[in-house]
Amino acid sequence: MISEQDARNRILEAVSPRPERSVLLSDALNCFSARDVVAHLPLPVFDNSAMDGYAVVASSCTNGARLRVIGEQPAGIDRQLRISPGEAVRIFTGAPVPAGADAIVMQEDTTRERDHVAVNVDVNPGEFIRRQGCDLAEGQKILPRGERIQPTMIALLASQGFADVIIGGEVHAAIVSTGDEIVMPGKKLHPGEIYDSNSALLQALVYQCYASVRSVEHCADRREPLLTAIRRGSESDILVITGGVSVGEHDLVQATLRSLGARIDVWRVAIKPGKPFLFGQLDGCAVFGLPGNPVSAFVTFLQFVRPAVLKMMGAKDLALLQVPAKLGVDLANDGDRPHYVRGKVADGTFVPIGRQESHALFGLSRSNALLRVSVGESLKAGTIVDVQMCA
Ligand code: AMP
Ligand code: MG
Repeated sequence: MISEQDARNRILEAVSPRPERSVLLSDALNCFSARDVVAHLPLPVFDNSAMDGYAVVASSCTNGARLRVIGEQPAGIDRQLRISPGEAVRIFTGAPVPAGADAIVMQEDTTRERDHVAVNVDVNPGEFIRRQGCDLAEGQKILPRGERIQPTMIALLASQGFADVIIGGEVHAAIVSTGDEIVMPGKKLHPGEIYDSNSALLQALVYQCYASVRSVEHCADRREPLLTAIRRGSESDILVITGGVSVGEHDLVQATLRSLGARIDVWRVAIKPGKPFLFGQLDGCAVFGLPGNPVSAFVTFLQFVRPAVLKMMGAKDLALLQVPAKLGVDLANDGDRPHYVRGKVADGTFVPIGRQESHALFGLSRSNALLRVSVGESLKAGTIVDVQMCA
């Protein structure tokens, strides 16, 4: 049995980032940038008006001033207008500020009289002008390599005129569930059988990493079909097998992998739930063997598969989001493995949910966070702990 950290290190050493590619901005959502991206335009791009109103010289604009309107400056064209004290230019939101103007008076604070405008407020220099570069300077880093591209980042890249972006590689996953007792949802359940919930779970978890699922298949606990399923699955970048990785007579995954020439790098990890976890490599495919119990499959996916997938996709941050929370109950771990307690964070307090056993899917489905309790650790209610957000 090896430690979680050793297991994670071995897995992360074994996988490498997939080849990067250029995609249209519209296809980049939730991908990871493969470059440090730098602004090549300031934002705003030029000094412009924040209001519909009048561009003025503030010093000639006390309350009651009457200014001559010398022209109109709409958005979308630069009419290269210039004003002097005592003059104004009719201006619209987003339009370039005329030379000589140092403030905009909003329309609501003026009275228009044919070719003059009366100003009904005091005006200060700089008012309602959006200065070039005040938001973002040219040369400033806007997107670090390895960061996930969110909708607002897509907007920022578009504002720079980028039509495409270079991102990390794609990861295709194959999922194989094993077990003679497992039946696909939608089919009739006979005595002794249970529905396959892990395939659906793992597929969703792969999607949550923004990777794609190439195939999902179920396989009985027999050598031949397992050989075929593993061979087929190993054509993907990663293969996630669930069930059959333990030590019973029907647990054939490890032996089958070895007979195909796989190298097993990790087998049995000190983690609860999830001890019978396996990682190996077969023909360039990263193979993960997850325990069949749904909670164990969930926890081991998040702790071991997810960081590997994210690394392969070019992500920098491989850890789940950690947030501080107040512990709602006393918790202790007197076992011999770190325990990932499933629970819910609400209003800043973490409370365990449901049965803390590896088959207990209902409690897991109501949970949104994991609390790792180390071996021998005893935590009192009210303690501030860091929990991993998992929903
Ligand atoms: P195993 O790891 O194959 O020994 O399975 C451990 C437990 O997980 C058993 O109770 C199995 O019935 C259950 N199990 C295995 N595969 C699945 C699956 N795909 N969906 C739901 N439960 C499963
Ligand atoms: Mg089984």
